[in-house]
Amino acid sequence: MLTTGFQSALRLIYPPRCTICGCQVDSDFGLCGPCWRDTPFVTGLCCDTCGVQLPGQAAGPAEFCDDCLVTARPWKSGRAVVLYRDNGRKLALALKHGDRQDIVRPASVWMARAAQPLLTSGMLIVPIPLHWTRLLKRRFNQAALLAQAVSKEVALPYCPDVLIRPTPTPTLGGLGRDARHQTMDGKISVHKGRNAVIADRDVLLIDDVMTSGATLSAATQACHAAGAANVSILVLARAGKGA
Ligand SMILES: [Zn+2]
Ligand SMILES: [Zn+2]
Repeated sequence: MLTTGFQSALRLIYPPRCTICGCQVDSDFGLCGPCWRDTPFVTGLCCDTCGVQLPGQAAGPAEFCDDCLVTARPWKSGRAVVLYRDNGRKLALALKHGDRQDIVRPASVWMARAAQPLLTSGMLIVPIPLHWTRLLKRRFNQAALLAQAVSKEVALPYCPDVLIRPTPTPTLGGLGRDARHQTMDGKISVHKGRNAVIADRDVLLIDDVMTSGATLSAATQACHAAGAANVSILVLARAGKGA
């Protein structure tokens, strides 16, 4: 009773807002009608490896986008919540650069829903790491915030420090697919003390945005080198040709 009363009082003082435009909405987390309509959520058939939307209905066997047919992905399956354009891009950029950590909660609910076909019992949820110098500059790792919140939603264990970036990597913006893969090759490793945690375990790697997949590939290879079983990936937004 006390909690309910307290929550009602809070809602009076801080009425729930649309995550994108800030207008008042009914639910505690989410988007208003127009923003929802203008957000390119992935629905129906998607590429089984990267989660990009595909034409047609989800009914038959797994299908793959052109990108994933051209570039072999080391992970097993993947899903994305939105395409990286319009409001999808706005959400991802606001989370990364705009200190909008309120996006984490709705994003994690959407991501948990998209991840359902990937989840296995005891699966370990692991964020893509930042190099510590970038973490210091930005003060938070958006992938870790998302991973932690997704792990709560799906009730699976979260381990924030399985993966590390021992050396700083240049920003990949402006680089082509091959250059991105070359830049990231071998740049992510499993923390020495975490080998036992990951061995023979299914892993769900989480990042905010997938573009070429170079970072997720490097992370997947590090997990496999440490003896992980199946590795899948989950991102908030999928950028690239298909978007
Ligand atoms: Zn809105
Ligand atoms: Zn794909």
